[in-house]
Amino acid sequence: MSLSLIGRSISESVTLKLNETAAILREKGEPVIHLGGGEPKSKAPIDALIAATGIINTAEVRYAPADGAPILKKAIVRYMEQFYNRYVAPENIIASSGAKQSIMVALQAILNPQEEVIFPAPYWVSYTEMVKLCGAIPVPVFSEDGTFHPRLVDIEQRVTSYTKAIMINSPNNPTGVMYSEEFIAEIVEFCEKRDIYLIMDDIYHRLIFDNRKIINPYDYTKIKDENSKLIVVNGVSKQYAMTGFRIGWAVANRKLIEVMTNVQAHQTSGPSIVTQVAAAAAINGVQTQVESLVLTLQNNRDVMMEYLNAFNGIKVTKPDGTFYTFADFSYYEKDSTKLANFLLEKVRVVTVPGIEFGMDGYLRLSTCGSVKDIT
Ligand code: PMP
Repeated sequence: MSLSLIGRSISESVTLKLNETAAILREKGEPVIHLGGGEPKSKAPIDALIAATGIINTAEVRYAPADGAPILKKAIVRYMEQFYNRYVAPENIIASSGAKQSIMVALQAILNPQEEVIFPAPYWVSYTEMVKLCGAIPVPVFSEDGTFHPRLVDIEQRVTSYTKAIMINSPNNPTGVMYSEEFIAEIVEFCEKRDIYLIMDDIYHRLIFDNRKIINPYDYTKIKDENSKLIVVNGVSKQYAMTGFRIGWAVANRKLIEVMTNVQAHQTSGPSIVTQVAAAAAINGVQTQVESLVLTLQNNRDVMMEYLNAFNGIKVTKPDGTFYTFADFSYYEKDSTKLANFLLEKVRVVTVPGIEFGMDGYLRLSTCGSVKDIT
């Protein structure tokens, strides 16, 4: 069969595949414990549900503008004010079918073949494949000091004349680590100085523990106008437990949003109007659910830490946020795929092999389920 070079280079989404495996086993009546997932188990906000059913009940569900519906953009303008202290225009915003699509169209809008995108390792599984889909080259950077905290010196060494963008995800999937304010300040400054795009994947920014404060990259920008190359990505999937609604967004300079919109227009058109309206309602609605989700996730993290610390030989960094723990199991098994398969076969526990995030010997354990499952 004749397939494209790019198509053939893309690996399957291991995390989505694991969800499928877990679902198949459950259907067969197997008592599967799913620590591989990436979505909160709480219910979507009632405001979102009412808004979505409202538009469905009109029986007139039409195309939405390619860059997002005005009602959602208005909610995102408010969101940006509230959480980033930043006043943006609707023209600075694109709403997409998930934060994933916002990142993808941003990469498609900025990358030429063979250009490079740097991101710290371990990294979210999709970053490498998304960059490859653009014909560009992913450049993961490991911290020389062996921690999950990236250092500018390590990143700086990998910057070449081909470097087009740096992508940062904090709090981080898969480690749960929140990068330091100093690092964010440094990387913002560095990208501005070197004229490199900085993509901040902030999808977990409100899911942080121990009274931590959200870190705002705009606090460190010197270029405040339409020349800014800072792209901030966010969405409703994680914070509002609305993964299946598929709404995310990006905020950037108008010209870039225009090009991203052109790409998206030919790719999928605008995201579903039903879920855009729901996302707007979640953003504008009562926020107690986000607060209680954070408390649940923090408690789950504590339970996970307590049990992992009781094992001999497992090394684990306490997550600052998200719903992932990235634990070093190499004392028992260095091949993380082998270990994950062993756990699935023997005890029906789904985990994600660390190698998928760029680090073998580790397993990513999700804490978005129940305490019972974690225990
Ligand atoms: N970025 C990261 C780091 C993620 O973990 C995810 C979801 N797994 C996304 C982006 C995509 O989120 P969405 O569901 O909104 O596409």
